[in-house]
Amino acid sequence: MILLNPGPVKLSTGVRAALTGPDLCHREPEFAELQTDIRRRLLEVYDLSPDCWAAIMLAGSGTAAVEGMLASLVPRGGKLLTIENGVYGERMTRIAVTHDIPHHPLRLTWGAAINVNDVARALKIDPNISHVAVVHHETTTGRLNDLIALVDLCHRHRVRLLIDAVSSYGAEALNFAGVIAGCAATANKCLHGAPGVSFVIVRRDQLSPNAAPRSVYLDLATYCSEQDHSGTPFTQPVQIFYALRRALIEFEEQGGWRARRQRYLTLAQRLSTGFEELGIQALLPRRETSAVLRAYYLPKGLSYADLHDALKARNFVIYAGQGELARNIFRVAVMGAIEDADIDRLLCAFQAVLSKS
Ligand SMILES: *Cc1c(COP(=O)(O)O)cnc(C)c1O
Repeated sequence: MILLNPGPVKLSTGVRAALTGPDLCHREPEFAELQTDIRRRLLEVYDLSPDCWAAIMLAGSGTAAVEGMLASLVPRGGKLLTIENGVYGERMTRIAVTHDIPHHPLRLTWGAAINVNDVARALKIDPNISHVAVVHHETTTGRLNDLIALVDLCHRHRVRLLIDAVSSYGAEALNFAGVIAGCAATANKCLHGAPGVSFVIVRRDQLSPNAAPRSVYLDLATYCSEQDHSGTPFTQPVQIFYALRRALIEFEEQGGWRARRQRYLTLAQRLSTGFEELGIQALLPRRETSAVLRAYYLPKGLSYADLHDALKARNFVIYAGQGELARNIFRVAVMGAIEDADIDRLLCAFQAVLSKS
């Protein structure tokens, strides 16, 4: 099956083989070595210094990392501005509500670009806001939110930035400027690992180990101090760690995030050219979308369910739109071990489905 959903991804042969590594207790030195190696490699993805930054490993999907980041890095007495232009921005607001984190949501239409003037206005109106939370690649629509202007704005207003980079870490540019306090990501999207482990890249001076945590399981200060000392507070998914180490080695061999981005762009371009010939139109202009995923309007007269099932019968899994968009769009992610030939076969499958409908 060729997975074209935004994670979990189609695994490479090497990553799949790594999943069958030896049984190992997470309290043994072999696991400590594995974890330390992964934490180092995750920082190296963006050339981050381990003196200033820490990669904190959590068992869980990307949402665990986002929740851990918001619950741990907004101090008591702080206030969060959540920027919503899709499902994942809205999820950050839900996390703030659930953990009783004082917050103000900046509600935008799904798919809309973030206007920094709106953010600036929100920061001026409420001087208590200490942190801004934003999704880098809003997977709902494929929009790549522009972080450069936002980093600059946060710098001028002396507020910290928290980033959900779950569907961009390893495949898009991320400039870890001084205002960034944390960045949440996962093993099984652009890094091509298996699902089950996520991580937060944290600016070390933003952790407050002495503050009362909002969560037992997701307190990043606890994880960081134990992981810095070769431990971990709770059981880790050992086999998923093996797979992630293998995925990171392959990632480095293939040339890092720039090469991965280029690879995705090549695949996405091949797909878009083919779709254009079939009359299938993209939701957003190319320059506003990530390299990772693109949303397209459903062909006229074809429901998502029918399209999905017909493609699945031909070994391809595409992805539905969410909420209101479910009736109008479908999404295709090019992350994972996808070959040019897979895209060509997908286009043939589309052609066959369209000629029948
Ligand atoms: C996938 C994703 C998440 C996490 O979703 P899970 O279902 O927990 O894996 C969070 N944010 C974004 C932008 C995502 O694409």
